[in-house]
Amino acid sequence: MNITSLRFEGFRNLSDSSVSPCQNVNVFYGKNAQGKTNLIECIWLLSGNRSFRGGKDQEFVCFDKERAKIDADFFSEGRIQTAEIIIQDQKKEAFLNGVKQKSSASLLGHLCAVVFSPEHLTLVKGSPENRRSFLDSAICQIKPGFKDTLTSYKRTLVQRNALLKEIPEHPDLEGTLDAWDQRIAVLGANIIRVRKKYTERLCEFASKYHAGISHNSEVLNINYMSMVPQKYCDSIESVRDYLLAELLNERNNDIAAGVTKLGPHRDDMEITINGVSVRRYGSQGQQRSCVLSMKIAEEELIRISISEEPLVLLDDVLSELDSKRQEFLLNEIGDRQVFITCCEPASVQRLNEGKLFEVDGGFIKQSF
Ligand code: ATP
Ligand code: MG
Repeated sequence: MNITSLRFEGFRNLSDSSVSPCQNVNVFYGKNAQGKTNLIECIWLLSGNRSFRGGKDQEFVCFDKERAKIDADFFSEGRIQTAEIIIQDQKKEAFLNGVKQKSSASLLGHLCAVVFSPEHLTLVKGSPENRRSFLDSAICQIKPGFKDTLTSYKRTLVQRNALLKEIPEHPDLEGTLDAWDQRIAVLGANIIRVRKKYTERLCEFASKYHAGISHNSEVLNINYMSMVPQKYCDSIESVRDYLLAELLNERNNDIAAGVTKLGPHRDDMEITINGVSVRRYGSQGQQRSCVLSMKIAEEELIRISISEEPLVLLDDVLSELDSKRQEFLLNEIGDRQVFITCCEPASVQRLNEGKLFEVDGGFIKQSF
């Protein structure tokens, strides 16, 4: 899969123009605040995702314009297709091959991408919630039905928690908890098993990539940390039975606290390099390399699942990586279409193949 041309009109500070990227590595360099991240964000939106910067849709529209329009021609499933997004009057509309979609999320799975921006360092540095949401969105890309399971689980959890809070005043309601426990256990077991299996595969690929980027000096390991002990994790039924029994055991504590303390909503991922926690002890370069390895592994798993290579969007990853790590990154991921931004063109002299673009005040021009 690759973008053959990308156009923007009224999108943030980017001047109305188009870019024709090459099929492998495309480097966009420029001083701070010129529009490099805006360009990466534009591609990420066209892949059906929400901005990695958060914020409202209207923020995409250039300050002195009324609407923003971005579109890309991309080659996928053996033909050229088009993804387009228009943002106007606080609303976002998406089109695939000229056909209006229900929402921009409908573009997911058509133009596929993985993105790394400095915000993604929260994957190692941030809270367990950051790691759970990375896992969940990565899994949803290759297993779209997982989104429904997550939504049902979250809804059931909210309902059980509301009931827990009511029970002290209405003890007769306690009997109705059984039905909610059953549902939490069934959905929770499914989520834990899927996340665990995904983490094992992610670790397999990420550790291979990390060995390369660190020139075999570091061993990356990723473990799904569930409250369900390992010995119960062999089958979905044993996870479910464990959850059900523990929900009953902990019922009085849950009623006192007014929240459900056990389940996949409390799980985490443990990420280590050479056996020690990257979050606690990792250097900036190690944390960056580790997130990059996980992102590339995420891409590999999508690639296997859909038999197409997703785009790789790397915003500002070269800083804090030493020359050997940069060299590995620039040249080893070159068999996919990559969009990479940096401030100094000198850092991409190691690039063997690809196109170089300068971003200056929202103008993008090809350097060679
Ligand atoms: P850095 O190297 O510091 O990361 P960058 O090149 O990635 O810089 P961007 O984040 O792309 O910079 O932002 C470029 C400029 O776009 C910023 O100065 C920002 O104020 C401007 N900008 C953001 N949103 C809008 C908008 N809606 N309209 C006009 N300009 C905007
Ligand atoms: Mg930037």
